[in-house]
Order: sequence, then C-alpha cells, then structure tokens
Amino acid sequence: MELAQQQALQSKHDIFKHGCVLTHRNKIVAMGHNTMRFHAEIYTFNQIDLKRYRNRNFTVYVARINRNSDARMSKPCKNCQSFLKKVNINNVFFSTDNGLEKMNLCSIISE
Ligand SMILES: [Zn+2]
Repeated sequence: MELAQQQALQSKHDIFKHGCVLTHRNKIVAMGHNTMRFHAEIYTFNQIDLKRYRNRNFTVYVARINRNSDARMSKPCKNCQSFLKKVNINNVFFSTDNGLEKMNLCSIISE
C-alpha cells in the first residue's frame, strides 16, 4: 500500500492523486498512477498483457493522497469497478480517509 501511495505522488493531477499497484501471486507485476487520460487502475493494467496470466490471482491496491500526502478515499469508480470485474479481479484494497478497506468485487451484484 505504501508503494501505491508513492505512485500517487507521481500523479500530475492537482487534487486527485491516485496510485495503483498490481500484484499477481504476491509479486508486483505493474504500478502506475492516474494520468489525464486514464484512471490509475486502467493505466496500470495497460502495462501488462492479461493473456499471459492464466491464473488470475491478482490483487489491486489503489491509493489516493492529497496535497499534504495524507491518505484519502480511493474507492475505484464505477467504470474501474466494472473493468476490474470483467478481468476477474477479486481483491481490491483501497485507501480511505482513515485507513484501508477491502472490496470483493465478485460479491457486488451488477446493476
Ligand atoms: Zn476509475
């Protein structure tokens, strides 16, 4: 999660600084931050070839920091949630204003 925060520091965005770390079987496979075009989650996934990972044991960490580098709510938006779900990502950890939360996408019923 600290790494995701470090990624967030590199975001050029003034207010919404998001960072993302993607692990597969507990090994880091990609990291990224939000850009003008992409949310951090999408940007990070764009760096890997999903087809190479047959066993999709991915965990995604998303962090957001404010200008003072304090952790802020970084729950993936609806678009990113459906993207993550589509590629079978189950475990998502995200920063909140007071810590860390885990989201299990497979338990969310689609609307
Ligand atoms: Zn998003």
